[in-house]
Amino acid sequence: MGFIDVVDECKRYRSGSQLVEANDHVTFSVEQGEFAIVLGPSGAGKSTLLNILGGMDTCDEGSAIVDGRNIADLSARELTRYRRTDVGFVFQFYNLVPNLTARENVELASEIAPRALDAAEVLGMVGLEARMDNLPAQLSGGEQQRVAIARAVAKRPKVLLCDEPTGALDDRTGKQILKLLHDMSRLHGATTVVVTHNSALAAIADRVVHMRDGRVVGVERNACPRPID
Ligand code: ADP
Ligand code: ADP
Repeated sequence: MGFIDVVDECKRYRSGSQLVEANDHVTFSVEQGEFAIVLGPSGAGKSTLLNILGGMDTCDEGSAIVDGRNIADLSARELTRYRRTDVGFVFQFYNLVPNLTARENVELASEIAPRALDAAEVLGMVGLEARMDNLPAQLSGGEQQRVAIARAVAKRPKVLLCDEPTGALDDRTGKQILKLLHDMSRLHGATTVVVTHNSALAAIADRVVHMRDGRVVGVERNACPRPID
């Protein structure tokens, strides 16, 4: 048993007369504290999987178990609590509230989490001490993603789920963001799952889950993940 256990998980979408097997008997585990990457081309089913792990969607068959609890068995109230306090999300396009400052964005997420860290302190950790009273539109893409990472880790989530977190950034900024995500994940001991189509990200991961056409086509355990230079 890992910290995250996905077992024979299936998710289908009906689009018109077509039935799409977005996740087709997906099985893998992630150990506590690991930094895992789910790698696969567009359409492989990665976002579907992440939405199920984050309690934002439900699977049709099989199970997704996080820290010993089957997400499908949670009541509506437990599910809200799970999303608010146990899970931190980082998205490709940051998803910051545009009319709130960086600090207010982090505070908003922390307010509903009982173990939250101080917003200003976490913004300092991601290198934004001088920018925390700026609105998202006044920040670069890399800086906005730093705010989003601060927002996600400030809750001290058990799991950190990231959907193409470097997808909207240039290579150099993307590398810095990946390093930050990795450092923050290690520092706070959050079990992390990053989904991406960028195979360059795989080198730093403890575990790489390869997906294609809704299926897991391989899992590698990386004994010596390479540091990000
Ligand atoms: P990835 O994140 O790897 O690009 P997705 O999980 O977004 O893959 O999509 C997997 C498959 O499921 C794709 O064929 C996609 O078109 C389909 N799909 C995803 N969401 C929906 C939806 N809401 N309705 C219909 N089909 C969907
Ligand atoms: P509720 O409907 O109970 O408010 P939500 O699913 O809207 O629950 O959000 C709960 C938590 O999940 C948020 O505090 C946030 O951390 C995370 N979350 C979910 N969806 C998003 C999103 N699109 N952008 C940012 N955070 C999100």
